[in-house]
Amino acid sequence: MKEIKYVSTRGEGGKVTSAQAIKQGLCSDGGLFMPDSLPVFTPEYLEKLRGMSYAERAAAVMSLYLTDYTYEELLEDCKKAYSAEKFKGGCAPVKAIENLRVLELWHGPTCAFKDMALQIMPRLLSRALDKTGEEKTALILVATSGDTGKAALEGYRDVDKIKIQVFYPVDGVSRIQKKQMQTQVGNNVCVTAIKGNFDDAQSGVKKIFSDKDVSAVLEKNGYFFSSANSINWGRLVPQVVYYVSAYCDLLDFGEIRPGDKVNVCVPTGNFGNIFAAYLAKRSGIPIDKLICASNVNNVLTDFLGTGVYDRNRAFHTTMSPSMDILISSNLERLLYLAAGSEKTASYMASLAKDGRYEVDSDVFAKIKESFIGGFCTEDETRKTIREIFEKYGYLIDTHTAVGVKCAREYAARTGDTRPIITASTASPYKFAPDVLSSLTPDVPEDEFEAIEALSALSKTESPAPLSSLREKAVRFDRTVEKEEMTREVLRFAGIE
Ligand SMILES: *Cc1c(COP(=O)(O)O)cnc(C)c1O
Repeated sequence: MKEIKYVSTRGEGGKVTSAQAIKQGLCSDGGLFMPDSLPVFTPEYLEKLRGMSYAERAAAVMSLYLTDYTYEELLEDCKKAYSAEKFKGGCAPVKAIENLRVLELWHGPTCAFKDMALQIMPRLLSRALDKTGEEKTALILVATSGDTGKAALEGYRDVDKIKIQVFYPVDGVSRIQKKQMQTQVGNNVCVTAIKGNFDDAQSGVKKIFSDKDVSAVLEKNGYFFSSANSINWGRLVPQVVYYVSAYCDLLDFGEIRPGDKVNVCVPTGNFGNIFAAYLAKRSGIPIDKLICASNVNNVLTDFLGTGVYDRNRAFHTTMSPSMDILISSNLERLLYLAAGSEKTASYMASLAKDGRYEVDSDVFAKIKESFIGGFCTEDETRKTIREIFEKYGYLIDTHTAVGVKCAREYAARTGDTRPIITASTASPYKFAPDVLSSLTPDVPEDEFEAIEALSALSKTESPAPLSSLREKAVRFDRTVEKEEMTREVLRFAGIE
């Protein structure tokens, strides 16, 4: 098997192993890690994958990218990460609605798709520490506006040589999200509310990261800082797996024959999930178009329409908050593949300086070969949830609705009848009040009651991790001033 090394999208800093890339997160020149060559999924290889469980498929696919990990190591980790106990409804089942093949990525412990990566990534990091001879314990700091914090806590809990501290704004998360974090189990986790908003939490964490005195104290006590950031290669590569897996499933269903092309549609924020689908395409999965679905924060729709990326625009708070993003960090990886490191570095420099860049026409043409942009307003989101439920009795969440709307619109506009694998990124119950209000005007004030009302109305069951939440015991109820965040970290590390 060909050995793969990792290089920066901005061209500096040499080549490292995947273990080093996962441990380091970001390249020293500020770029993102990319493989120096892309593996190839041959038809024979796909044929072999068809007979496998999800965990086996995951280990097989990831082993082509993470060549300094053995297949046995990856299989051991994947079996734990993607166990039937953790993914009670299956890992990435495919449901048919019209010509959409809805890929349900939310059957994990926190009911959103980030579990697909965050259940395995901490194990990859733990092994990376061994492989790179690291003796210190990694201390992960996360500032969260809700979803990422919980998914990271579930992923990192009880993983060797790692501790995780999460900060959230005391009045800036939903009641369900707060309870999810306050009741977190695990012997290496700590959750603290801060008096302030999400930006305060995030700048607090950044300040601690860059505080040399704090780093020195931690180092003396056997720790180093690490982050659970969505641009880490260790979070991206597990996402390639489910697109490969979905293609295998469609072959198994007899809906396509080997070599037949499908389209993919992804509700997009940071461009991580859809970029994973593009990687699958580049490695030989027969994918024709990638439909990039945005909410009204449609900076990517404009980019894919004009070749100009411009973040200088109003920011909208929407029903699909995980897609309320104006800088889609992982887009840098696509630019690197289409334009090379030199141009990418210059685009990123103008993004940092002016908040915008325009790609060259040959680069734009390359991107347009595969990508199509679309977006969905708040009204259309509600309408799509209602229509899909009334027609098919199938519930989708607010993020998934954005994807479904754009996928159907693409099919209607082009007449393209190929199956569209459409990523479903959260359980409808995770956003119960907004899903319910799309179906009926009677929405209870209380979020837990909204979950029950949604269950009664749709005659479906809410996922156990959400419905059992009300009864769970609170473990973390501390609230501190934002100036006290450093002390909280040191206290958790047992220093002070
Ligand atoms: C994070 C998230 C997204 C966006 O995914 P990206 O990889 O950032 O594009 C979409 N839906 C949900 C529910 C999410 O949590």
